[in-house]
Amino acid sequence: MIDLTHPLDDSAPRCAGHPVFACHPALTLSSDGINVSTLTIGSHTGTHVDAPYHFLADGLRVDQLNLSLLVAPAVLVDVRGKPPRSKITWRDLEPYAHRFRKGVMVILHTGWSKYWGQERYKDHPSLEVDAARRIMAAGVRVLGVDALSPDEIPLPGEKDRFDVHHVILGSGGVIAENLDNLETIDFDDPIISLLPLRLTDCDGSPIRAVAWQASKQP
Ligand SMILES: [Zn+2]
Repeated sequence: MIDLTHPLDDSAPRCAGHPVFACHPALTLSSDGINVSTLTIGSHTGTHVDAPYHFLADGLRVDQLNLSLLVAPAVLVDVRGKPPRSKITWRDLEPYAHRFRKGVMVILHTGWSKYWGQERYKDHPSLEVDAARRIMAAGVRVLGVDALSPDEIPLPGEKDRFDVHHVILGSGGVIAENLDNLETIDFDDPIISLLPLRLTDCDGSPIRAVAWQASKQP
């Protein structure tokens, strides 16, 4: 079982305005006889999924997602080597496109997870909106990325753009962000699990993302 999840602590990179993660003792062994913690967490903290409701008032909430889409065969698209803030285009995806179909998730492997916690983590390559449309047109409903977002993170003073989010979530799809360790998937037939917490009416959820080889038992 390969862990595709970043560790969760207060150093987790986040988009502007998102809550800072915290885990504090609420009860302790020494005073109360048990350890219990209080968690402060955003719905988009660390490795997580975005539900359509993140951007669409009438979109599916995270507790309404079809779980069978979120434990599924994955096509890993190797786009390592793309320069910072460059665009991932359909030309980059084309060698993998014959495997894009309903029930398969597409995972963009940018290699950016190694910058987790560094300033340049926000300078990841981003997906061209036309390429996002073509992925969805093939029937795919889950797009994952080992970076903060499939969209470009704005530079200071720039306006936020969420074109890819609108295309994926607007098609009833799900986005998984901040995946880790994709380079350790060294086999051709990965199954990836991106199961969210069952948070009533919520727009997203932290996940424990894992992968295993379809031809072997986990
Ligand atoms: Zn998100």
